[in-house]
Amino acid sequence: MNADVQTSRSQLVQITPLPQLVPSRVCLSCDVCCRFPEPNSPLRPYFTGEEIRRAVARGMAPAEFTDLDGCQVSVVPSPVSDGYLCPAFDPLTSHCRIYDVRPLDCQIYPLMVMWNADRTQVVLGWDSKCPFLREGKVAHPAWPY
Ligand code: SF4
Repeated sequence: MNADVQTSRSQLVQITPLPQLVPSRVCLSCDVCCRFPEPNSPLRPYFTGEEIRRAVARGMAPAEFTDLDGCQVSVVPSPVSDGYLCPAFDPLTSHCRIYDVRPLDCQIYPLMVMWNADRTQVVLGWDSKCPFLREGKVAHPAWPY
């Protein structure tokens, strides 16, 4: 991410949390999000400086961020499987410990703001591993929740 985009994101001020896009009953039966195959996964959520301050106030350690003005979270080895976890994720309950103050990156998941392939444009993409989107469950009559 270039410096201009990082600066814009660090200045982002969010007024109200977004409603959860994927219903909890789907999330709690899935093992994709908040878990990462590599420590430097590009899908690790980005926290702005304000989002870091709120997360630390809710119990996350400052050491879980390499830049307190805004950065992707540093993930930790999973105690229950191969791979890595967001340090805010509780693998025993599959819940986020900072859910009410989770960053915008997590609020819009499985949608993602990312670079296009040649890194000339910022685009809105989606994680094809999310079963809710992959299996077309957005057409379910009970959505959105
Ligand atoms: S902050 Fe919460 S919702 Fe976001 S990746 Fe970490 S555990 Fe998951």
